Amino acid sequence: MVEQTIDAPAVHGEIVPPPSTSSSPAPVAAGTACGRCKEPLNDSYFLVNAHAACPDCRRSLDGSMRNAVAFGLAAALLNIAVYHAIYWIMHWRFALITVIAGVLIGEAVRHGAQASKSLAYRWLSVGLTYLTAVATYSLALMEPAGTSRPVATALHSLVLPLVMLAARENVVTLILLGFGLHEAWKFSAPPYASIEGPFTVAAPTAAPNSSA
Ligand SMILES: [Zn+2]
Repeated sequence: MVEQTIDAPAVHGEIVPPPSTSSSPAPVAAGTACGRCKEPLNDSYFLVNAHAACPDCRRSLDGSMRNAVAFGLAAALLNIAVYHAIYWIMHWRFALITVIAGVLIGEAVRHGAQASKSLAYRWLSVGLTYLTAVATYSLALMEPAGTSRPVATALHSLVLPLVMLAARENVVTLILLGFGLHEAWKFSAPPYASIEGPFTVAAPTAAPNSSA
């Protein structure tokens, strides 16, 4: 999907001199399409990474914790399902799933967080990735004894990384977990660097001047 940049307000080939103050951007004409939803801009607009955006789209960039939780949970469950499917079909413990989960959950949470810089979203991403990882460990915990104590197994798997760390065992598993958590933190970061505004739209531009 290609984001639309703001149309230069000048007609054909003219270069608009830079605004005299850094706080007022080159004016955007009324009726210019919002760079995100393509609706025409009427009264005011914002600049999101120098792309014009309408007030509704600006509000949506504040993010939604409910969406972030829903998207992040869906990504977590998908990773757990894929891990178990690979195990049951190929009898192979796909340990790299922890890193993949970090990326996918981070992306999913960011989709809900939008441009919010709140660290709550980053920690949500890290927490879901950790839970996904320990959910894959529970398989190994249940297997040898054929235990039917799911609650005890779940609690054990929750603290298993700390146990492994203390015992200095399963170093590769711990490294993959650390890398996955790092990816979860990194990928949940907001993609937008700058949001400016609101600014007032300029009067509609006249048709391009064809007189020479
Ligand atoms: Zn919009």
